[in-house]
Amino acid sequence: METKLKIAIQKSGRLYDDSIKLLKECGIDFSNGINKLKAEALNFPLEVFFLRDDDIPQYVEDGVADIGMVGENVVLEKNKKVKVIDHLAFGKCRLSIAIPKDKKYTGKNYLQGKRIATSYANVLSGFLKTNKINAEIHEISGSVEIAPSIGLADAICDLVSSGSTLFSNGLKEVEVILKSEAVLVANKSLGKKQNEILKKLQFRINSVKKSKKNKYILLNAPNKNLDAICDILPGMKSPTILQLADKGWSSVHSVVNENDFWGIIEKLKANGAQGILVVPIEKMIV
Ligand code: ATP
Ligand code: ZN
Repeated sequence: METKLKIAIQKSGRLYDDSIKLLKECGIDFSNGINKLKAEALNFPLEVFFLRDDDIPQYVEDGVADIGMVGENVVLEKNKKVKVIDHLAFGKCRLSIAIPKDKKYTGKNYLQGKRIATSYANVLSGFLKTNKINAEIHEISGSVEIAPSIGLADAICDLVSSGSTLFSNGLKEVEVILKSEAVLVANKSLGKKQNEILKKLQFRINSVKKSKKNKYILLNAPNKNLDAICDILPGMKSPTILQLADKGWSSVHSVVNENDFWGIIEKLKANGAQGILVVPIEKMIV
């Protein structure tokens, strides 16, 4: 029987769409029915399990699943014996402490003796210990943000992305205790065959990730400025230069990173570049 790699992803929730999208961008086809627990990929030796995110670290530790996509926050909170092997660049959020808007925050010492409600008791307790703060942790499993208004706690420690949920509950963020994104976790003793499949999958994931961080750029450059323009554009090896029919001008093609994208565009324009086109890259194999 063909060996398959078993991957656990969130069944529904904030990580679901991006997890499915990433697998599909890796060229892996499977049918994902809402009520399904399991799906077989049609064109890659992969079996997909749909689970609650909280359960994924345990399933991966036990080897029920070989790998999983889950928030780093959950991995740290559950503290299971799994390896984090890749960051996936989605599901970005932070685990923060928030207090009522009208209170004056005076620094970490403000939290001494306070009651803090959270679903992340382990991570919070680590933070409190590190900072020598004596506070009472109230562990609750959901709707943490309403705890202060119903008198259950003085502060909360919860996941935040935009901050709008905090704001609409009359809270303000005062400490970030963890920055998190979705990660790929793996069982610590994968078999040789599973490892080979995992390497192929990671190769594809990295190609997709790189392609998202980079753009393909085409522009027309006056030949007298070609050297300066090529210095601005590193490219994968170096830029491609094609002679235009109009003598004195060339077409330059390259790949630029989104981080310094606008800076590069400005420098190119300052050096006489015209007709700049920027196109997304679907996959990037380096
Ligand atoms: P499940 O039903 O699978 O237990 P859940 O309700 O615990 O789901 P979600 O709210 O779907 O979890 O969040 C899943 C993960 O998405 C979080 O653990 C976190 O890593 C990430 N995430 C990103 N942004 C946010 C946010 N603003 N609030 C909560 N989680 C976020
Ligand atoms: Zn959950």
